[in-house]
Amino acid sequence: MAQTETHHFQAEIQQLLNIVIHSLYTDKEIFVRELISNAADACEKLRFNQSAGTPVYQSEIAPTITIVTDEKAGTITITDTGLGMTHAELVENLGTIAHSGTKAFLKQLSEEKKPDVGLIGQFGVGFYSSFMVAKRVTVLSRSFATEESGWQWTSEGMGGYELAPAADLPRGTKITLELKDDAKDFAQESTVERIIERYSSFVPFPIELNTKRLNTVQAIWARNKNEIKPEEYNEFYTFIGHDHDAPLFRLHFNADAPLAIQSLLFVPSRNFETLGMGRIESEVNLYCRKVLIQAKAKGLFPEWLRFLKGVVDSEDLPLNISRETMQDTSLMQKLNKVLTSRFLKFLDEQSEKEAEAYDKFYNEYQRFLKEGIVTDFTHKEALGKLLRFESSSLDAGKRTSLADYVKRMAAEQKEIYCLLAANRAAAEASPYFEVFRERKLEVLFLYDAWDEFVMEHLREFEGKSLRLAEKADLNLSAKKDSALSEDAAKTLAQWLKETLGDKVSEVRVSQRLVESPAVIVDADKFMTASMRRMMQAMKQDGPEMPATKHDFEINPAHPIMARLDAMRQKDAALATSVAEQILDNARVAAGQLEDPRAMLTRLNQLLEKVLTKE
Ligand code: ADP
Ligand code: MG
Repeated sequence: MAQTETHHFQAEIQQLLNIVIHSLYTDKEIFVRELISNAADACEKLRFNQSAGTPVYQSEIAPTITIVTDEKAGTITITDTGLGMTHAELVENLGTIAHSGTKAFLKQLSEEKKPDVGLIGQFGVGFYSSFMVAKRVTVLSRSFATEESGWQWTSEGMGGYELAPAADLPRGTKITLELKDDAKDFAQESTVERIIERYSSFVPFPIELNTKRLNTVQAIWARNKNEIKPEEYNEFYTFIGHDHDAPLFRLHFNADAPLAIQSLLFVPSRNFETLGMGRIESEVNLYCRKVLIQAKAKGLFPEWLRFLKGVVDSEDLPLNISRETMQDTSLMQKLNKVLTSRFLKFLDEQSEKEAEAYDKFYNEYQRFLKEGIVTDFTHKEALGKLLRFESSSLDAGKRTSLADYVKRMAAEQKEIYCLLAANRAAAEASPYFEVFRERKLEVLFLYDAWDEFVMEHLREFEGKSLRLAEKADLNLSAKKDSALSEDAAKTLAQWLKETLGDKVSEVRVSQRLVESPAVIVDADKFMTASMRRMMQAMKQDGPEMPATKHDFEINPAHPIMARLDAMRQKDAALATSVAEQILDNARVAAGQLEDPRAMLTRLNQLLEKVLTKE
């Protein structure tokens, strides 16, 4: 054609193209995302011009995106009815480095050991990704400006491109890729459909693939909350969460400062981790202006919120962000902090407003909150507010927050008391509970094996220390009538220490027992028994840890103690046996008798003795 002009690419563009053409990049499919997002931009700009009242060529044609694959010809064609390009714009946009991103991208590519071409779109040079898969690219474009006409731009990527007039084009741009032999896959409808679903499901203009309408689900996170119906939210959740049950909670949250964030988060109705599916992975996807940047974005939320599903869209994603370093960037950290704080605040609000749903949430997800307390210092306080426990002051099955516990505390109570037990019956029958019952002090009942560590890490709440019941420094409000005098009780304690020897570290007269004859108390002020067990388990082959030693507290008001005192004068052997048995009984009550065999032998001997006496 006589009018065909030949142009050279600018040096940087050619350099970029050389890399793109020869890249062994595995995610070549992203060229679809880039061309569709350019088409969507063009549609957006057209709409803007229309609404501004600028005269528009063929203004009756609505902005849409059409994709056609042709397996026989080995081509894929992407057409949009957006604003199109003039001759000058084709030269400027598809061949020069008008975009400062080119240089930045080249620099990034040369600096990285494994250059990530996938980020090409973030640098404003996405168009050139088509040369990863195409041996020739043809662009037909007709600007929306009424006085303009159509042009054809063609290039094989090396050297330059040709420009020629093209008559009778409709408004917009049509890009045809003649695929390389190793990229013929992209001429297959099913392949392209999958790619569009992955990256471009929420593009705000209709996308048709071989006459089939694809993106029917809207990017509702970018819409006004007040205009969205609950069904729309649920439909969206089903789509992105691949879960047909309605979510338990959803948080639609937008912010302008400190970062521009549009986010829509969901809590699935069930905890998939306990359903035997193994460790779950966060399913929150990161978008930039409705186009997927990273699926299951790492670092967007802390690990302990990995049950969340949803979308975070931020316009603030910088150009130099790379998949490997994404996690470390201060932007990701900022996003993480803002999002996490907001989500925890949301949970706190829900616990008030939607108590029943929160209860269900807690049943499913409490272990995640506790994991957060143990592993993440940053949000400890906010997480502490979300904990719930049964309590001696509430009916069975009802749970309280620490905040409500604190509200109920009497002025002189300084600590929050917690009792570790297998269940409510065990807690109420525990010797450690006796003093609390007698003094009418509220105790939280902790049934989860993790709770001890959680309390250890939390340490305090609203300035009140968390104290395990067994370590509480408490006496009964009134002295019980006792068969043993104070002196006699002390002497008995001394005798017990001599008799039990190394099995106990100290024997003393208890001020806190009502119904139990005796109780053991951890001698170690810092490490509790279950922690010690855990440490032992961790060094399986290592040397045995020194045996647990306990302080032994006796209840002088208990009839067993009075009779034991009498018996030790009459039958020292029997008294010794009984003393050992009482200690083992106390160990059983504390859940700390590891090997019951010796105890059973002794108990049988005692029974035998009782029966022969009759
Ligand atoms: P970016 O989209 O980030 O600007 P690209 O390399 O993807 O970078 O595209 C370069 C430019 O080419 C765009 O900014 C736009 O001006 C123009 N362009 C690309 N595709 C189209 C299209 N389908 N319609 C109109 N203009 C387009
Ligand atoms: Mg682009």
